[in-house]
Amino acid sequence: MTLEILLRTENDRLVQKYFARLDLKEADPSTLSVASVVPNWGKYRHQINQRYTPRALADQYIESIKTLHGYFQDTVRHKWTSEDLLQKLLLARFSYASPAAYQLKKPVFVKEKPGDQEFTVVANYNNNYGIYVSLPEDFTLGDIKRYGIHELGHLMHHLDAPENYRASDATIKETMALLIEVEQGMNLIYKKDTPHWRAQQLLIKANRKKLRGKDFAEKWNTLTKFKKQKDLEDYINGKLIIFPEEP
Ligand SMILES: [Zn+2]
Repeated sequence: MTLEILLRTENDRLVQKYFARLDLKEADPSTLSVASVVPNWGKYRHQINQRYTPRALADQYIESIKTLHGYFQDTVRHKWTSEDLLQKLLLARFSYASPAAYQLKKPVFVKEKPGDQEFTVVANYNNNYGIYVSLPEDFTLGDIKRYGIHELGHLMHHLDAPENYRASDATIKETMALLIEVEQGMNLIYKKDTPHWRAQQLLIKANRKKLRGKDFAEKWNTLTKFKKQKDLEDYINGKLIIFPEEP
């Protein structure tokens, strides 16, 4: 498969360039490797910071895919083989974008609640098996990988529980995408009064109460039963009981 990057030319036109070809020897994510990269970015090269080499970007992508595959293998085992899961992850379109190109590509976000704060969007899942990750000047490669993992989390929510994904509010969607980073013990700072901040608070609280001691698959499957933030909150606080806990 190939990885692509979106670039903006002088006259505001988006240019799509393939920058790396990946190779998979067996149906096993550990055999996923970079087969070749475009050695020369030519006239487009100046649009992204020099730390974002084709090789470095391809490596971040591969690491993100391995992380997701590792977390979800058990979660989807009842319906997909390890190979099915890998194919689904690899088939999703994944694009990096120069900061300027991302400005033209990024979605317009509607506030979930009237009092919500504005926040800068640097990556998104497009609800149609496509992910875009911007490459800001001041980000590290670790940040880029983290955003890739987050957006792949949205993709997995869509792939694994499409009806729940479509019906879920913004906070629930972020709860699903943030689950991996919370599992990894990352304590990232999100702007207060945003879906991400609410999702993080809910997960921290859930891990102390209802989800305590459960493995990733159990947590994920429990969370996919909720479509509304209020219901998840009530469940965590013991005010709402869901199947199969019902007497
Ligand atoms: Zn998100």
